[in-house]
Amino acid sequence: MTDTATAVEHLDVVIVGAGISGVGGAYHLTTQRPGTNFVVLENQESFGGTWITHTYPGIRSDSDLHTFGYRFKPWTGVPIASAEEILTYMGEVIDENELASHIRYQHQIDTAEWSSADRRWTLGVRRLDTGEHVAFTCNFLWMCQGYYRHSAGYTPEWPGMDRFDGPVVHPQLWPDDLEYEGKNVVVIGSGATAATIVPAMAAKTSHITMLQRSPTYFAAGRNENEVAVMLRELDIDEEWVHEIVRRKILFDQSQIAEAAVYFPEMVKDELYGRMREYLGDDYDMEPHFAPSYRPWQQRLAFVPDGDLFQAIAAGEASVVTDEIETVTETGIELASGETLDADIIVTATGFDLNVLGDIAFTIDDEPLTFHDTVTWRGAMFTGIPNMLWVFGYFRASWTLRVDMLADFMVRLLNEMDQRGASVVVPEIPAADADMPLAPWVDPENFNPGYIMRGLHLMPRQGDKQPWIHTQDYWLDKDELPQAPLDDGSLRFS
Ligand SMILES: Cc1cc2nc3c(=O)[nH]c(=O)nc-3n(C[C@H](O)[C@H](O)[C@H](O)COP(=O)(O)OP(=O)(O)OC[C@H]3O[C@@H](n4cnc5c(N)ncnc54)[C@H](O)[C@@H]3O)c2cc1C
Repeated sequence: MTDTATAVEHLDVVIVGAGISGVGGAYHLTTQRPGTNFVVLENQESFGGTWITHTYPGIRSDSDLHTFGYRFKPWTGVPIASAEEILTYMGEVIDENELASHIRYQHQIDTAEWSSADRRWTLGVRRLDTGEHVAFTCNFLWMCQGYYRHSAGYTPEWPGMDRFDGPVVHPQLWPDDLEYEGKNVVVIGSGATAATIVPAMAAKTSHITMLQRSPTYFAAGRNENEVAVMLRELDIDEEWVHEIVRRKILFDQSQIAEAAVYFPEMVKDELYGRMREYLGDDYDMEPHFAPSYRPWQQRLAFVPDGDLFQAIAAGEASVVTDEIETVTETGIELASGETLDADIIVTATGFDLNVLGDIAFTIDDEPLTFHDTVTWRGAMFTGIPNMLWVFGYFRASWTLRVDMLADFMVRLLNEMDQRGASVVVPEIPAADADMPLAPWVDPENFNPGYIMRGLHLMPRQGDKQPWIHTQDYWLDKDELPQAPLDDGSLRFS
């Protein structure tokens, strides 16, 4: 708490962030634990998180909204949705459930101090609208701050970047007034963001090039869910459509994830087959779409209606797989000796992992080193009392974990009430003190750049439950609701 603090408000729960996780948390607290006194503190001017931060051309989801949507509110649109559609959906959740009064915008949490003596958190908060410093105290912190820093993206340093004559734009900070009509644009990157921006800009540019160091797998197909279309033709209730379509998608995804491990060539052929529907039968996938890793080792982005491949087939866009030697005044020189002319460079090079919302945490005045903690099922952490973090899935929609962890959170709070406990903290039993520890995610299993760059900041995991961060929705959906709270891994007091 700062000296300039002017007010202290005490809550049962503070939710950090009003993105898809925080709004979901607010819904579940309101409906499953009515009477819980809580607020959502959000530093931006509105809700949405990821979906208001990103405003680049074409901004859309890369997974389907049937599962990226909440389990409790049917998604009635096409599977891949624009940021605007996602924001409309979230706005409806807020309105329909009267959540607005709980959300405080432009509240930046800078510090979080746990006091064992007071058995509560004290949050040092800056009001970005008034400049005031305010303090909140709470019994429980529900961290829904996402996983990356919103204020800026990650841009590697390439030689010569400062001599480039045109704008260098990161998609996370897209300038509203960027003029790109008739210009040569080079988009550096090959992830879902690059795959969205390239087709969205292609028709207006003189030419747009996706420059990648290494290729990525994409899944192309019509932006339509056949089961949803069929059920709607039969006039089935939207609640049923939502449930059935979610189950079908999750079933199919589990099959694909398994096949990617045991039959990677088959999955690769299937992905290529779908891309060739847009690129033509003779299109050679080498080198631009032939990654060195197996499918699913990194997130598989869906390309709705194959728009990226349509733009390539139309000659409006092209892909170059090469290394940047240097940036010049007028473009990029590549290791192969080739030169790409550019008026604008877009660096779709990813995020900076942000650990706990860049909040300075202390536990009884000791600064918290998050990396020293061990996770309890990817949600709680040894030595950090009364705190839960929603870190979603990579291979399934993030929101599946939002709903699931909300159920867990309610169960945990109810358990604390029943026990008359005001503190819960994960603690590794003495018998497991020598348990081998591993990184937050296994780089063999999942290895995108932002995770690899930030792994040293993240908590670690053990080799058996409840000390594993599974990243496996299909396992968690069965295990988490049954997870014992009385096996000695959680200390209640
Ligand atoms: C362009 C893009 C597309 C994506 N598409 C998909 C997809 O299709 N499917 C999928 O599953 N995942 C997708 N993801 C991952 C996506 O980020 C998550 O799925 C999800 O939106 C994260 O939601 P969240 O609420 O947990 O966090 P965020 O959306 O990151 O929201 C967190 C909020 O907390 C606020 N906050 C952070 N720190 C503080 C603080 N100290 N004080 C106050 N407020 C704070 C932030 O400003 C932000 O508004 C995508 C990510 C990006 C960047």
